[in-house]
Amino acid sequence: MVRAIADSLADVRARIEAAAGRAGRAASSVSLMAVTKGFPREVVETAMAVGISLFGENRVQEAEEKYTGLPGNWTLHLIGHLQRNKARSASGLFSCVQSIDAAETARALESRCAERGKTMEVLVELNTSGEASKAGFRSRENLLDALGEIAALPHLRVRGLMTVGPLTEDERDVRASFAALRSLFDDIRGRGSTAGFDILSMGMSGDFEVAIEEGATLVRLGTALFGQRGRA
Ligand SMILES: *Cc1c(COP(=O)(O)O)cnc(C)c1O
Repeated sequence: MVRAIADSLADVRARIEAAAGRAGRAASSVSLMAVTKGFPREVVETAMAVGISLFGENRVQEAEEKYTGLPGNWTLHLIGHLQRNKARSASGLFSCVQSIDAAETARALESRCAERGKTMEVLVELNTSGEASKAGFRSRENLLDALGEIAALPHLRVRGLMTVGPLTEDERDVRASFAALRSLFDDIRGRGSTAGFDILSMGMSGDFEVAIEEGATLVRLGTALFGQRGRA
Protein backbone atom coordinates (compact mmCIF):
# COMPACT_ATOMS: atom_id res chain seq x y z
CA MET A 1 0.00 0.00 0.00
CA VAL A 2 2.89 2.40 0.78
CA ARG A 3 4.28 1.90 -2.71
CA ALA A 4 0.92 2.45 -4.40
CA ILE A 5 0.17 5.64 -2.49
CA ALA A 6 3.71 6.97 -2.97
CA ASP A 7 3.36 6.38 -6.73
CA SER A 8 -0.05 8.09 -6.87
CA LEU A 9 1.32 11.00 -4.88
CA ALA A 10 4.25 11.44 -7.27
CA ASP A 11 1.85 11.35 -10.22
CA VAL A 12 -0.51 13.87 -8.60
CA ARG A 13 2.36 16.20 -7.73
CA ALA A 14 3.56 16.13 -11.33
CA ARG A 15 0.06 16.93 -12.57
CA ILE A 16 -0.26 19.79 -10.06
CA GLU A 17 3.06 21.18 -11.21
CA ALA A 18 2.07 20.97 -14.89
CA ALA A 19 -1.31 22.63 -14.28
CA ALA A 20 0.29 25.37 -12.19
CA GLY A 21 2.85 25.88 -14.94
CA ARG A 22 0.11 26.32 -17.55
CA ALA A 23 -1.36 29.05 -15.35
CA GLY A 24 2.03 30.69 -14.84
CA ARG A 25 1.98 29.79 -11.16
CA ALA A 26 4.41 28.03 -8.85
CA ALA A 27 3.37 24.52 -7.79
CA SER A 28 4.11 25.63 -4.23
CA SER A 29 1.08 27.96 -4.42
CA VAL A 30 -1.20 24.90 -4.41
CA SER A 31 -1.77 22.93 -1.21
CA LEU A 32 -2.62 19.27 -1.53
CA MET A 33 -5.28 17.86 0.78
CA ALA A 34 -5.82 14.12 1.05
CA VAL A 35 -9.51 13.32 1.45
CA THR A 36 -9.80 10.14 3.49
CA LYS A 37 -13.58 9.69 3.70
CA GLY A 38 -14.43 6.05 3.07
CA PHE A 39 -10.86 4.92 3.74
CA PRO A 40 -9.63 3.34 6.97
CA ARG A 41 -7.13 4.74 9.43
CA GLU A 42 -4.35 2.62 7.90
CA VAL A 43 -4.67 4.67 4.72
CA VAL A 44 -4.24 7.89 6.72
CA GLU A 45 -1.16 6.46 8.42
CA THR A 46 0.31 5.41 5.09
CA ALA A 47 -0.40 8.83 3.60
CA MET A 48 1.40 10.42 6.54
CA ALA A 49 4.33 8.03 6.03
CA VAL A 50 4.76 9.27 2.45
CA GLY A 51 4.67 12.91 3.51
CA ILE A 52 1.06 14.09 3.47
CA SER A 53 -0.02 16.16 6.47
CA LEU A 54 -3.23 17.91 5.40
CA PHE A 55 -6.37 15.80 5.47
CA GLY A 56 -10.07 16.28 4.81
CA GLU A 57 -13.14 14.40 5.98
CA ASN A 58 -16.83 14.89 5.16
CA ARG A 59 -18.47 13.69 8.31
CA VAL A 60 -17.73 14.56 11.90
CA GLN A 61 -18.40 11.11 13.30
CA GLU A 62 -16.29 9.25 10.77
CA ALA A 63 -13.48 11.74 11.30
CA GLU A 64 -13.65 11.30 15.08
CA GLU A 65 -13.46 7.54 14.80
CA LYS A 66 -10.50 7.70 12.45
CA TYR A 67 -8.42 10.59 13.78
CA THR A 68 -8.98 10.75 17.54
CA GLY A 69 -5.72 9.82 19.24
CA LEU A 70 -3.89 9.39 15.94
CA PRO A 71 -0.22 10.25 16.49
CA GLY A 72 1.75 12.44 14.11
CA ASN A 73 1.68 15.93 12.70
CA TRP A 74 -1.61 16.16 10.89
CA THR A 75 -4.11 18.86 10.19
CA LEU A 76 -7.72 17.99 9.51
CA HIS A 77 -10.40 20.04 7.76
CA LEU A 78 -14.11 19.36 7.59
CA ILE A 79 -15.26 19.52 3.97
CA GLY A 80 -18.84 18.25 4.30
CA HIS A 81 -21.94 19.96 5.65
CA LEU A 82 -21.77 20.63 9.39
CA GLN A 83 -24.92 19.80 11.33
CA ARG A 84 -25.35 22.23 14.17
CA ASN A 85 -25.56 19.47 16.77
CA LYS A 86 -22.07 18.35 15.68
CA ALA A 87 -20.50 21.78 16.17
CA ARG A 88 -19.12 20.87 19.59
CA SER A 89 -17.21 17.83 18.30
CA ALA A 90 -16.16 19.68 15.19
CA SER A 91 -14.64 22.51 17.20
CA GLY A 92 -12.41 20.02 18.97
CA LEU A 93 -11.23 17.95 16.04
CA PHE A 94 -10.82 20.19 13.01
CA SER A 95 -8.51 23.13 12.48
CA CYS A 96 -10.72 24.44 9.68
CA VAL A 97 -14.31 23.98 8.56
CA GLN A 98 -14.36 24.56 4.79
CA SER A 99 -18.09 24.06 4.44
CA ILE A 100 -19.74 27.04 6.13
CA ASP A 101 -23.03 27.27 4.23
CA ALA A 102 -25.20 29.39 6.50
CA ALA A 103 -24.76 32.10 9.12
CA GLU A 104 -26.46 29.83 11.70
CA THR A 105 -23.80 27.17 11.15
CA ALA A 106 -21.09 29.75 11.74
CA ARG A 107 -22.83 30.99 14.90
CA ALA A 108 -23.09 27.45 16.28
CA LEU A 109 -19.39 26.89 15.65
CA GLU A 110 -18.55 30.29 17.14
CA SER A 111 -20.21 29.49 20.45
CA ARG A 112 -18.45 26.12 20.72
CA CYS A 113 -15.09 27.69 19.92
CA ALA A 114 -15.76 30.40 22.49
CA GLU A 115 -16.38 27.71 25.13
CA ARG A 116 -13.02 26.17 24.32
CA GLY A 117 -11.25 29.53 24.09
CA LYS A 118 -10.12 28.51 20.61
CA THR A 119 -10.05 30.31 17.30
CA MET A 120 -10.90 28.30 14.24
CA GLU A 121 -10.38 28.89 10.55
CA VAL A 122 -13.31 28.59 8.20
CA LEU A 123 -13.99 28.78 4.49
CA VAL A 124 -17.36 29.80 3.12
CA GLU A 125 -18.86 27.42 0.57
CA LEU A 126 -20.60 28.54 -2.59
CA ASN A 127 -22.75 26.24 -4.68
CA THR A 128 -21.37 27.18 -8.09
CA SER A 129 -22.93 24.30 -10.01
CA GLY A 130 -26.60 24.99 -9.26
CA GLU A 131 -27.00 21.29 -8.45
CA ALA A 132 -29.61 20.92 -5.70
CA SER A 133 -27.72 18.02 -4.13
CA LYS A 134 -24.69 20.21 -3.48
CA ALA A 135 -24.13 22.19 -0.31
CA GLY A 136 -23.13 25.82 -0.02
CA PHE A 137 -24.71 29.22 -0.34
CA ARG A 138 -27.06 29.24 -3.32
CA SER A 139 -25.77 32.46 -4.84
CA ARG A 140 -22.95 34.92 -4.46
CA GLU A 141 -25.45 37.49 -3.17
CA ASN A 142 -26.57 35.12 -0.40
CA LEU A 143 -22.97 34.46 0.49
CA LEU A 144 -22.03 38.12 0.53
CA ASP A 145 -25.07 38.93 2.69
CA ALA A 146 -23.89 36.46 5.33
CA LEU A 147 -20.16 37.07 5.05
CA GLY A 148 -20.08 40.27 7.07
CA GLU A 149 -21.74 38.59 10.02
CA ILE A 150 -19.54 35.47 9.77
CA ALA A 151 -16.36 37.52 9.50
CA ALA A 152 -17.30 39.47 12.63
CA LEU A 153 -17.54 36.35 14.83
CA PRO A 154 -14.60 36.66 17.21
CA HIS A 155 -13.55 32.98 17.33
CA LEU A 156 -13.75 32.31 13.59
CA ARG A 157 -11.25 33.47 11.03
CA VAL A 158 -12.56 33.45 7.46
CA ARG A 159 -9.65 32.31 5.29
CA GLY A 160 -11.38 32.02 1.92
CA LEU A 161 -13.90 30.20 -0.22
CA MET A 162 -14.70 26.63 -1.21
CA THR A 163 -16.78 24.96 -3.89
CA VAL A 164 -17.51 21.55 -5.38
CA GLY A 165 -17.56 21.62 -9.18
CA PRO A 166 -20.43 20.20 -11.22
CA LEU A 167 -20.63 16.48 -11.90
CA THR A 168 -20.21 16.57 -15.66
CA GLU A 169 -17.80 15.57 -18.38
CA ASP A 170 -18.17 18.99 -19.96
CA GLU A 171 -15.00 20.86 -19.09
CA ARG A 172 -16.55 24.22 -19.97
CA ASP A 173 -19.14 23.86 -17.19
CA VAL A 174 -16.47 22.81 -14.72
CA ARG A 175 -14.26 25.74 -15.69
CA ALA A 176 -17.17 28.20 -15.46
CA SER A 177 -17.95 26.97 -11.96
CA PHE A 178 -14.39 27.48 -10.76
CA ALA A 179 -14.09 30.82 -12.55
CA ALA A 180 -17.22 31.99 -10.71
CA LEU A 181 -15.68 31.17 -7.35
CA ARG A 182 -12.42 32.83 -8.34
CA SER A 183 -14.25 35.95 -9.40
CA LEU A 184 -16.07 36.18 -6.07
CA PHE A 185 -12.77 35.56 -4.26
CA ASP A 186 -11.12 38.41 -6.15
CA ASP A 187 -14.09 40.72 -5.49
CA ILE A 188 -13.94 40.08 -1.76
CA ARG A 189 -10.19 40.55 -1.67
CA GLY A 190 -10.61 43.74 -3.63
CA ARG A 191 -12.69 45.23 -0.83
CA GLY A 192 -9.51 45.44 1.18
CA SER A 193 -10.58 44.44 4.69
CA THR A 194 -9.60 40.83 4.15
CA ALA A 195 -6.08 40.27 5.44
CA GLY A 196 -5.54 36.52 5.62
CA PHE A 197 -8.32 35.84 3.13
CA ASP A 198 -6.16 33.71 0.87
CA ILE A 199 -7.53 30.17 0.40
CA LEU A 200 -9.45 29.15 -2.70
CA SER A 201 -10.41 25.51 -2.18
CA MET A 202 -11.62 23.92 -5.40
CA GLY A 203 -10.81 20.84 -7.44
CA MET A 204 -11.19 17.13 -6.73
CA SER A 205 -9.70 14.05 -8.43
CA GLY A 206 -11.65 14.52 -11.64
CA ASP A 207 -11.14 18.24 -12.10
CA PHE A 208 -8.21 19.52 -10.03
CA GLU A 209 -6.11 20.54 -13.01
CA VAL A 210 -8.86 22.80 -14.32
CA ALA A 211 -9.28 24.20 -10.81
CA ILE A 212 -5.58 25.04 -10.58
CA GLU A 213 -5.70 26.72 -13.98
CA GLU A 214 -8.59 28.81 -12.59
CA GLY A 215 -6.69 29.79 -9.46
CA ALA A 216 -7.20 27.10 -6.81
CA THR A 217 -4.78 27.35 -3.88
CA LEU A 218 -5.98 24.10 -2.29
CA VAL A 219 -7.13 20.92 -4.04
CA ARG A 220 -8.97 18.08 -2.29
CA LEU A 221 -8.06 14.63 -3.57
CA GLY A 222 -9.35 11.21 -2.57
CA THR A 223 -9.50 8.69 -5.39
CA ALA A 224 -6.51 10.12 -7.28
CA LEU A 225 -4.37 9.22 -4.27
CA PHE A 226 -6.06 6.18 -2.79
CA GLY A 227 -8.13 4.54 -5.54
CA GLN A 228 -11.84 3.86 -5.44
CA ARG A 229 -13.50 4.16 -2.06
CA GLY A 230 -14.72 0.92 -0.54
CA ARG A 231 -12.02 -1.07 -2.26
CA ALA A 232 -9.05 0.21 -0.26
C1 LIG B 1 -15.11 13.31 -1.52
C2 LIG B 1 -14.75 14.73 -1.66
C3 LIG B 1 -13.55 15.12 -2.26
C4 LIG B 1 -12.58 14.14 -2.90
O1 LIG B 1 -13.19 13.51 -3.98
P1 LIG B 1 -12.36 12.59 -4.97
O2 LIG B 1 -13.17 12.62 -6.22
O3 LIG B 1 -12.28 11.25 -4.35
O4 LIG B 1 -11.04 13.20 -5.15
C5 LIG B 1 -13.25 16.47 -2.29
N1 LIG B 1 -14.09 17.41 -1.80
C6 LIG B 1 -15.26 17.07 -1.22
C7 LIG B 1 -16.13 18.14 -0.68
C8 LIG B 1 -15.62 15.73 -1.15
O5 LIG B 1 -16.80 15.41 -0.60
